[in-house]
Amino acid sequence: MKKLLALAAIAAVVTGAHAQDFPGGKPITMVVPFAAGGPTDRVARDLAEAMQKELGATIVVDNTAGAGSTIGNAKVARAKNDGYTLLLTHVGMATTPVLYRKLSYNYETDFEYLGMVNDVPMTLIGKPQLEANNFKDLRDWIGKNSGKVNLGNAGIGSASHLCGLLFQSELKVEMTTVPYKGTAPAIADLLGGQIDLLCDQTTNTTGQIEAKKVKPYAVTTLKRLSTPALKDIPTLDESGLKNFQVTIWHGLYAPKGTPAPVLKKINDALKVALKDPNFIKKQEGLGAVVVNDKRVEPAEHKKFVQAEVARFGPVIKAAGVYAD
Ligand code: ASP
Repeated sequence: MKKLLALAAIAAVVTGAHAQDFPGGKPITMVVPFAAGGPTDRVARDLAEAMQKELGATIVVDNTAGAGSTIGNAKVARAKNDGYTLLLTHVGMATTPVLYRKLSYNYETDFEYLGMVNDVPMTLIGKPQLEANNFKDLRDWIGKNSGKVNLGNAGIGSASHLCGLLFQSELKVEMTTVPYKGTAPAIADLLGGQIDLLCDQTTNTTGQIEAKKVKPYAVTTLKRLSTPALKDIPTLDESGLKNFQVTIWHGLYAPKGTPAPVLKKINDALKVALKDPNFIKKQEGLGAVVVNDKRVEPAEHKKFVQAEVARFGPVIKAAGVYAD
């Protein structure tokens, strides 16, 4: 027994020593549970660039996409808890525990919360071939094509899924939803005319809207956005869907049990990244807002996600959608 305790003490010292050296120049993997080239991937790559300067280590983005983010989330929950595997994900952290009857991870007990990153509005966009040039005409077109409208999303639990659910329930129409591994492939199909509509984060749609490649119908915030490319798009609220509001947030996580000194180093690097003028400028150019200092605190982050689970629970239950 004594020998065992001594070994455990040595192990603790060694782990502690490693934690002090973290990251020691070794690359860190940042898992994004959605397809490459999409809105969350975009945030992750910009964040990785801003954080790696501070950490003195390369951050490699790993797109483990599918099942509305739950595959990537599960991968990080099971990863070695040494700080070299992180998860960057969005509101899906709070919607999936409500939407999935069974998940292989627990959002509260399998992760260390490292702080939030940003808030991102969404836009309702249509394929370029649609005749409707404004929300009123779009609404009429949806009414006339009941049952035939295709709405893309990034899988059950994704932001586009949530936005689409709320949109259909407000309009009291049912659309055919087409799931993808992220909205990067969904937007590619929208451009090709295979799907009609998509509700997607501005971190993915701003460039397409600016280049006039898609039809923008509305933003999902209560106030119009100030980003130059998005400022003339009406809100859904002013277009007749009173109080319609969906804003997506991103946060950073590590597997449960990652040593405290390692978590502190990552959180410190996150704080520095969120003050990086280059990062802030990129986010603002895409309609996103970097969070305030309070929300970068791990305890606040966790409290926020728990509150979001409580907020979305009744909405999702009322819509009656579940996945296995
Ligand atoms: N964030 C997802 C992505 O990056 C899209 C979504 O949640 O709708 O593809």
